Amino acid sequence: MGRIIKNILGIIERFLFFINTKSKGIYVINYHGTPKSLMPNFEQHLEYYRKHFHILNPDEFEEICKGGKRPDTLKASLLLTFDDGMKNNINAIRLLNENNVKACFFVIPAFIESDQPRDFLSTFIRPGYVNKMETEEEDFTPMGWETLREAISEGHKIGSHTYSHTLVKGDNEEKSTFEILESKKCIESRLSIEVPYFCSINNTDISVGKMQEDLINRYYNYHFTTYYGYNFPTPAPGRIERINIESYWNMNELRYALGNIRRIMIKK
Ligand SMILES: [Zn+2]
Repeated sequence: MGRIIKNILGIIERFLFFINTKSKGIYVINYHGTPKSLMPNFEQHLEYYRKHFHILNPDEFEEICKGGKRPDTLKASLLLTFDDGMKNNINAIRLLNENNVKACFFVIPAFIESDQPRDFLSTFIRPGYVNKMETEEEDFTPMGWETLREAISEGHKIGSHTYSHTLVKGDNEEKSTFEILESKKCIESRLSIEVPYFCSINNTDISVGKMQEDLINRYYNYHFTTYYGYNFPTPAPGRIERINIESYWNMNELRYALGNIRRIMIKK
């Protein structure tokens, strides 16, 4: 859907429909890159989440998945996640830290260890994608292991986003196992942590079939998907629904993405 239509629906949402607090679902948001020039915009997003939602840290999210106590608030809950582990996520992390918000970052070991990260990005992660807001080196390169270690020490969580961002459901078991399991082993050994989070790439419907799903469930406790939804009433750990939002979206687009008009249109 075009940005103009999303803007119009977002304006309608703002004045007529916005009743998020009535839904007690668990909203899981996924961002990608967070360029420095967009931080004032991202800060507005964050302010909005803080006003309208109870922001969960990953541990609280896990507790809810396990059937534990939900936050005692009328607001819906929300968890922030970031895919691809772009280096410019450090700008977001800085803001999150200032606001005491903890998030999840899904990283790609082959990207982190690539000698040619720009080529890797345009070949395996987002072929053909151009964003005029991206001008710095950090917009095309990954966070390194040291940065990730720091993020962990600040309370953020790191998950796997496959080994090389190449997985389709037609892949054989050997290739799928490599992408799904080797990424976990690599992150665990480099960062000395356990990795119970897996985030499927591109469109989960295209990258994950039955066999891949079995592998993900065997090696991970949580599967973050690209399926749209707000995990009502409680997230299914093997099929966590997410709502995509990008750091360059304006507030109307954000309201539309989270709002009820879209939910009604998708019939969820
Ligand atoms: Zn990705």
